[in-house]
Amino acid sequence: MKVDLHSHSYYSDGVYSPAEVVELANQVKCDLFSLTDHDTTDGLSEAQQRADDLSLNFTPGVEISAFWNNRTIHILGLDININNDTLQKGLRQNQELRKERAEKIGLGLRRAGIKEALDKTRVLSKTGMITRTHFAQMLIREGYCKDMKSVFRRFLTGKKPGSTIVEWSSFEEVIGWIHAAGGHAVIAHPFRYRMTQTKIKRMFSEFKEAFGDGVEAITAMSSEQEINLCSNWAKDINLLISSGSDYHGWPNQRINVGSLKEVPKSDNLIWNHLSWQR
Ligand code: AMP
Ligand code: MN
Ligand code: MN
Ligand code: MN
Repeated sequence: MKVDLHSHSYYSDGVYSPAEVVELANQVKCDLFSLTDHDTTDGLSEAQQRADDLSLNFTPGVEISAFWNNRTIHILGLDININNDTLQKGLRQNQELRKERAEKIGLGLRRAGIKEALDKTRVLSKTGMITRTHFAQMLIREGYCKDMKSVFRRFLTGKKPGSTIVEWSSFEEVIGWIHAAGGHAVIAHPFRYRMTQTKIKRMFSEFKEAFGDGVEAITAMSSEQEINLCSNWAKDINLLISSGSDYHGWPNQRINVGSLKEVPKSDNLIWNHLSWQR
Protein backbone atom coordinates (compact mmCIF):
# COMPACT_ATOMS: atom_id res chain seq x y z
CA MET A 1 0.00 0.00 0.00
CA LYS A 2 1.26 3.46 -0.90
CA VAL A 3 -0.52 5.88 1.41
CA ASP A 4 0.22 9.60 1.56
CA LEU A 5 -1.99 11.48 4.01
CA HIS A 6 -0.19 14.83 4.22
CA SER A 7 0.30 17.36 1.40
CA HIS A 8 -0.18 21.03 0.51
CA SER A 9 -1.56 23.09 -2.37
CA TYR A 10 -1.49 26.83 -2.99
CA TYR A 11 -4.52 27.16 -0.71
CA SER A 12 -1.84 27.22 2.01
CA ASP A 13 1.92 27.15 1.40
CA GLY A 14 2.19 24.64 -1.43
CA VAL A 15 3.19 25.57 -4.98
CA TYR A 16 0.60 23.70 -7.02
CA SER A 17 -3.19 23.73 -7.33
CA PRO A 18 -5.21 21.02 -5.56
CA ALA A 19 -5.94 19.35 -8.94
CA GLU A 20 -2.24 19.32 -9.82
CA VAL A 21 -1.26 17.79 -6.47
CA VAL A 22 -3.88 15.06 -6.94
CA GLU A 23 -2.53 14.39 -10.43
CA LEU A 24 0.95 13.87 -8.95
CA ALA A 25 -0.45 11.40 -6.42
CA ASN A 26 -2.14 9.57 -9.26
CA GLN A 27 1.07 9.48 -11.33
CA VAL A 28 3.01 7.82 -8.52
CA LYS A 29 0.09 5.43 -7.95
CA CYS A 30 -0.95 6.27 -4.42
CA ASP A 31 -3.53 3.83 -3.10
CA LEU A 32 -4.88 6.51 -0.80
CA PHE A 33 -4.15 10.23 -0.74
CA SER A 34 -5.08 13.31 1.27
CA LEU A 35 -4.63 17.04 0.76
CA THR A 36 -4.07 18.72 4.15
CA ASP A 37 -3.63 22.46 3.76
CA HIS A 38 -2.83 24.60 6.83
CA ASP A 39 -5.99 25.75 8.62
CA THR A 40 -8.26 25.67 5.56
CA THR A 41 -10.44 23.22 3.65
CA ASP A 42 -10.89 25.55 0.66
CA GLY A 43 -8.87 23.40 -1.75
CA LEU A 44 -10.66 20.14 -0.97
CA SER A 45 -13.61 20.26 -3.35
CA GLU A 46 -11.27 20.83 -6.32
CA ALA A 47 -9.02 17.99 -5.10
CA GLN A 48 -11.95 15.61 -4.53
CA GLN A 49 -13.30 16.31 -8.00
CA ARG A 50 -9.99 15.61 -9.72
CA ALA A 51 -9.53 12.45 -7.62
CA ASP A 52 -12.99 11.25 -8.64
CA ASP A 53 -12.18 11.90 -12.33
CA LEU A 54 -9.00 9.82 -11.97
CA SER A 55 -10.57 7.16 -9.71
CA LEU A 56 -7.93 7.90 -7.08
CA ASN A 57 -8.86 7.07 -3.49
CA PHE A 58 -8.97 10.40 -1.73
CA THR A 59 -9.81 11.42 1.82
CA PRO A 60 -10.36 15.09 2.73
CA GLY A 61 -7.87 16.47 5.26
CA VAL A 62 -6.56 19.58 6.98
CA GLU A 63 -3.46 20.47 9.04
CA ILE A 64 -4.51 22.53 12.05
CA SER A 65 -2.16 24.65 14.19
CA ALA A 66 -2.60 23.87 17.90
CA PHE A 67 -0.85 25.10 21.06
CA TRP A 68 0.71 22.69 23.54
CA ASN A 69 3.36 23.42 26.13
CA ASN A 70 4.01 26.92 24.79
CA ARG A 71 4.64 25.79 21.26
CA THR A 72 2.87 25.24 17.97
CA ILE A 73 2.01 21.62 17.21
CA HIS A 74 0.39 20.60 13.93
CA ILE A 75 -2.60 18.27 14.08
CA LEU A 76 -3.89 16.57 10.96
CA GLY A 77 -7.63 16.08 10.65
CA LEU A 78 -8.23 13.16 8.28
CA ASP A 79 -11.46 11.98 6.69
CA ILE A 80 -13.30 15.14 7.71
CA ASN A 81 -16.72 16.42 6.68
CA ILE A 82 -15.84 19.87 5.38
CA ASN A 83 -19.38 21.13 5.87
CA ASN A 84 -19.27 20.80 9.64
CA ASP A 85 -19.91 24.12 11.42
CA THR A 86 -17.79 23.39 14.50
CA LEU A 87 -14.76 22.60 12.33
CA GLN A 88 -15.26 25.63 10.12
CA LYS A 89 -15.69 27.92 13.11
CA GLY A 90 -12.39 26.65 14.55
CA LEU A 91 -10.62 27.09 11.23
CA ARG A 92 -11.92 30.67 10.91
CA GLN A 93 -10.50 31.37 14.36
CA ASN A 94 -7.07 30.12 13.21
CA GLN A 95 -7.33 32.12 9.98
CA GLU A 96 -7.98 35.24 12.08
CA LEU A 97 -4.93 34.46 14.27
CA ARG A 98 -2.87 34.08 11.10
CA LYS A 99 -3.91 37.54 9.91
CA GLU A 100 -2.95 39.10 13.25
CA ARG A 101 0.34 37.21 13.22
CA ALA A 102 1.14 38.38 9.67
CA GLU A 103 0.78 42.01 10.83
CA LYS A 104 3.13 41.31 13.75
CA ILE A 105 5.71 39.60 11.54
CA GLY A 106 5.52 42.58 9.17
CA LEU A 107 6.20 44.99 12.05
CA GLY A 108 9.05 42.86 13.36
CA LEU A 109 10.71 42.78 9.97
CA ARG A 110 10.25 46.53 9.58
CA ARG A 111 12.11 47.06 12.82
CA ALA A 112 14.91 45.01 11.28
CA GLY A 113 14.98 47.45 8.38
CA ILE A 114 12.87 45.50 5.90
CA LYS A 115 10.25 47.86 4.51
CA GLU A 116 6.76 46.89 3.30
CA ALA A 117 7.37 43.29 4.27
CA LEU A 118 3.68 42.41 4.61
CA ASP A 119 2.62 44.05 1.32
CA LYS A 120 5.44 42.36 -0.54
CA THR A 121 4.45 39.04 1.05
CA ARG A 122 0.73 39.39 0.35
CA VAL A 123 1.21 39.40 -3.39
CA LEU A 124 2.92 36.00 -3.18
CA SER A 125 -0.19 34.32 -1.81
CA LYS A 126 -2.55 33.06 -4.52
CA THR A 127 -5.48 32.55 -2.17
CA GLY A 128 -5.06 35.12 0.59
CA MET A 129 -3.73 32.74 3.25
CA ILE A 130 -0.42 33.99 4.62
CA THR A 131 2.00 31.47 6.08
CA ARG A 132 5.53 31.98 7.31
CA THR A 133 6.60 30.25 4.10
CA HIS A 134 5.28 33.25 2.16
CA PHE A 135 7.40 35.59 4.29
CA ALA A 136 10.36 33.27 3.72
CA GLN A 137 9.82 33.36 -0.03
CA MET A 138 9.63 37.16 0.03
CA LEU A 139 12.87 37.44 2.01
CA ILE A 140 14.63 35.13 -0.45
CA ARG A 141 13.31 37.11 -3.44
CA GLU A 142 14.45 40.36 -1.91
CA GLY A 143 17.92 38.89 -1.48
CA TYR A 144 18.05 38.73 2.33
CA CYS A 145 18.70 34.98 2.35
CA LYS A 146 19.52 32.29 -0.14
CA ASP A 147 17.33 29.40 0.97
CA MET A 148 14.38 28.34 3.14
CA LYS A 149 16.50 26.82 5.85
CA SER A 150 18.59 29.93 6.48
CA VAL A 151 15.64 32.30 6.19
CA PHE A 152 13.73 30.51 8.95
CA ARG A 153 16.82 30.47 11.12
CA ARG A 154 17.76 34.12 10.55
CA PHE A 155 14.33 35.75 10.49
CA LEU A 156 11.37 33.63 11.48
CA THR A 157 12.16 31.55 14.56
CA GLY A 158 13.49 31.88 18.11
CA LYS A 159 14.41 35.45 19.05
CA LYS A 160 14.69 36.68 15.48
CA PRO A 161 12.88 39.82 14.17
CA GLY A 162 10.03 38.01 12.38
CA SER A 163 9.43 35.48 15.14
CA THR A 164 6.08 35.47 16.99
CA ILE A 165 4.24 33.29 19.43
CA VAL A 166 0.63 32.53 18.60
CA GLU A 167 -1.63 31.00 21.21
CA TRP A 168 -3.56 28.61 18.99
CA SER A 169 -6.26 26.42 20.55
CA SER A 170 -5.45 23.48 22.82
CA PHE A 171 -5.26 19.80 21.87
CA GLU A 172 -8.72 19.25 23.41
CA GLU A 173 -10.29 22.01 21.34
CA VAL A 174 -8.67 21.12 18.03
CA ILE A 175 -9.36 17.40 18.45
CA GLY A 176 -12.96 18.39 19.29
CA TRP A 177 -13.33 20.29 16.00
CA ILE A 178 -11.95 17.34 14.03
CA HIS A 179 -14.18 14.82 15.80
CA ALA A 180 -17.24 17.05 15.34
CA ALA A 181 -16.54 16.75 11.60
CA GLY A 182 -16.30 12.95 11.87
CA GLY A 183 -12.53 12.98 11.33
CA HIS A 184 -9.46 11.40 12.92
CA ALA A 185 -6.91 13.58 14.73
CA VAL A 186 -3.21 12.83 14.13
CA ILE A 187 -0.06 14.59 15.43
CA ALA A 188 1.95 15.64 12.35
CA HIS A 189 5.74 15.07 12.04
CA PRO A 190 6.42 14.41 15.78
CA PHE A 191 10.22 14.62 15.38
CA ARG A 192 10.20 18.11 13.90
CA TYR A 193 9.45 20.08 17.07
CA ARG A 194 12.96 20.05 18.57
CA MET A 195 11.78 18.11 21.62
CA THR A 196 13.52 15.39 23.60
CA GLN A 197 12.17 11.84 23.32
CA THR A 198 10.78 12.12 26.84
CA LYS A 199 8.84 15.19 25.86
CA ILE A 200 7.56 13.65 22.63
CA LYS A 201 6.24 10.70 24.63
CA ARG A 202 4.56 13.09 27.07
CA MET A 203 2.98 14.90 24.13
CA PHE A 204 1.64 11.58 22.81
CA SER A 205 0.13 10.72 26.22
CA GLU A 206 -1.53 14.09 26.62
CA PHE A 207 -2.80 13.88 23.03
CA LYS A 208 -4.28 10.47 23.82
CA GLU A 209 -5.88 11.80 27.02
CA ALA A 210 -7.47 14.54 24.91
CA PHE A 211 -8.99 11.76 22.75
CA GLY A 212 -6.51 12.10 19.86
CA ASP A 213 -6.39 9.17 17.45
CA GLY A 214 -2.93 8.82 15.99
CA VAL A 215 0.57 10.03 15.17
CA GLU A 216 2.38 10.44 11.86
CA ALA A 217 5.08 7.82 12.30
CA ILE A 218 6.20 7.74 8.68
CA THR A 219 7.24 10.96 6.92
CA ALA A 220 9.53 11.73 4.00
CA MET A 221 12.22 12.86 6.46
CA SER A 222 11.95 9.98 8.96
CA SER A 223 14.87 7.66 9.66
CA GLU A 224 14.20 3.95 10.14
CA GLN A 225 14.98 4.43 13.80
CA GLU A 226 12.46 7.24 14.18
CA ILE A 227 9.78 5.22 12.43
CA ASN A 228 10.33 2.27 14.76
CA LEU A 229 10.51 4.38 17.91
CA CYS A 230 7.41 6.31 17.05
CA SER A 231 5.42 3.24 16.04
CA ASN A 232 6.33 1.53 19.32
CA TRP A 233 5.38 4.53 21.44
CA ALA A 234 2.09 4.78 19.57
CA LYS A 235 1.34 1.11 20.05
CA ASP A 236 2.07 1.30 23.79
CA ILE A 237 -0.69 3.82 24.35
CA ASN A 238 -3.06 2.65 21.66
CA LEU A 239 -2.60 5.41 19.10
CA LEU A 240 -2.87 4.63 15.39
CA ILE A 241 -0.01 5.39 13.00
CA SER A 242 -0.17 7.44 9.82
CA SER A 243 2.07 8.12 6.85
CA GLY A 244 2.53 11.39 4.94
CA SER A 245 5.12 13.14 2.77
CA ASP A 246 4.26 16.76 3.71
CA TYR A 247 4.73 17.58 0.04
CA HIS A 248 4.75 21.32 -0.78
CA GLY A 249 6.18 21.29 -4.30
CA TRP A 250 9.03 23.66 -3.45
CA PRO A 251 12.12 23.42 -5.64
CA ASN A 252 15.25 21.88 -4.06
CA GLN A 253 13.20 20.12 -1.42
CA ARG A 254 13.64 16.63 -2.88
CA ILE A 255 10.34 15.49 -1.44
CA ASN A 256 7.79 14.06 -3.80
CA VAL A 257 4.22 12.97 -3.31
CA GLY A 258 4.22 9.40 -2.10
CA SER A 259 7.99 9.39 -1.38
CA LEU A 260 7.81 7.57 1.93
CA LYS A 261 9.74 4.92 3.79
CA GLU A 262 8.38 1.42 4.15
CA VAL A 263 5.47 1.10 6.56
CA PRO A 264 6.34 -1.22 9.47
CA LYS A 265 4.21 -4.31 10.01
CA SER A 266 1.47 -3.11 12.29
CA ASP A 267 -2.14 -3.74 13.13
CA ASN A 268 -2.83 -0.13 14.04
CA LEU A 269 -2.61 1.65 10.68
CA ILE A 270 -4.93 4.61 10.48
CA TRP A 271 -6.01 3.97 6.91
CA ASN A 272 -7.81 0.84 8.03
CA HIS A 273 -10.02 3.10 10.15
CA LEU A 274 -10.95 5.68 7.52
CA SER A 275 -14.01 5.51 5.29
CA TRP A 276 -12.23 5.61 1.92
CA GLN A 277 -12.72 2.14 0.44
CA ARG A 278 -14.41 2.35 -2.92
P1 AMP B 1 3.07 28.60 9.50
O1 AMP B 1 2.07 27.48 9.60
O2 AMP B 1 2.56 29.79 8.76
O3 AMP B 1 3.71 28.94 10.81
O4 AMP B 1 4.21 28.08 8.57
C1 AMP B 1 4.82 26.90 8.91
C2 AMP B 1 5.36 26.26 7.65
O5 AMP B 1 6.63 26.78 7.37
C3 AMP B 1 5.56 24.79 7.85
O6 AMP B 1 4.40 24.08 7.54
C4 AMP B 1 6.65 24.49 6.87
O7 AMP B 1 6.06 24.31 5.61
C5 AMP B 1 7.46 25.76 6.86
N1 AMP B 1 8.65 25.70 7.73
C6 AMP B 1 8.69 25.84 9.07
N2 AMP B 1 9.96 25.77 9.53
C7 AMP B 1 10.74 25.61 8.44
C8 AMP B 1 12.14 25.47 8.23
N3 AMP B 1 13.01 25.50 9.24
N4 AMP B 1 12.57 25.31 6.96
C9 AMP B 1 11.71 25.28 5.93
N5 AMP B 1 10.38 25.41 6.07
C10 AMP B 1 9.89 25.57 7.30
MN1 MN C 1 3.71 24.08 5.36
MN1 MN D 1 3.36 20.86 9.63
MN1 MN E 1 2.32 20.05 6.38
